[in-house]
Amino acid sequence: MDTCKECSKQLDAEKEYFNLNIGDETERKWNKNKFNLCVDCWGKKKEGYKPLITLKKDKLSYERKIVVWKMIKNQAGGSMEEIGNCLTCKKWDDEYEVRNRHYNYCSLNCEKNKDKDDNNDDPERAKTQLRQRIQELEKLTNRTSEQEQELKEKREELAKLEGQNTQQPQKTNYTPWIIGGVILVGIVGILTYYFLKKDKKNHDEYE
Ligand SMILES: [Zn+2]
Ligand SMILES: [Zn+2]
Repeated sequence: MDTCKECSKQLDAEKEYFNLNIGDETERKWNKNKFNLCVDCWGKKKEGYKPLITLKKDKLSYERKIVVWKMIKNQAGGSMEEIGNCLTCKKWDDEYEVRNRHYNYCSLNCEKNKDKDDNNDDPERAKTQLRQRIQELEKLTNRTSEQEQELKEKREELAKLEGQNTQQPQKTNYTPWIIGGVILVGIVGILTYYFLKKDKKNHDEYE
């Protein structure tokens, strides 16, 4: 007899409920079929389980400390389907705003964000892509005005990326300050000399 771990509701009569396997792979094997939640309790708790899934280095799948199965009863007996997560925002399959529009992404927006992250993480890849596109465009003998414009934009973008990467912490260059200082001292010296001389001259005239 299965009951909800949270509210102790009887689950055998329910059309749907959720089975949670928590822990690493071996732990999950042991815990199998022991942790069940009713639909309401899963709804309340599912946000809190998201930290148990972390994106793998390849960014194509999750490292899971939890696997969730939706248990469905029907006339044929029953079935179960795994509840996955959006690869960008970790939304569970059953909370997608737009279901199944993109495999592994809850929405078009999340897929776009993923691409953006990739470019940020790897400026080299972005640069390679830009160079390839620039070369393609340069090879064209008769470029349309749109292609001409694209080429210009891509070149600017590439120059910007290359500029960012070659930026190194620069040592302050003191030369202009030293030259400026010498000139300033010189001017002050000349003026002082001039005024002193003038002052002396006036002084002499009154005597
Ligand atoms: Zn419950
Ligand atoms: Zn998402």
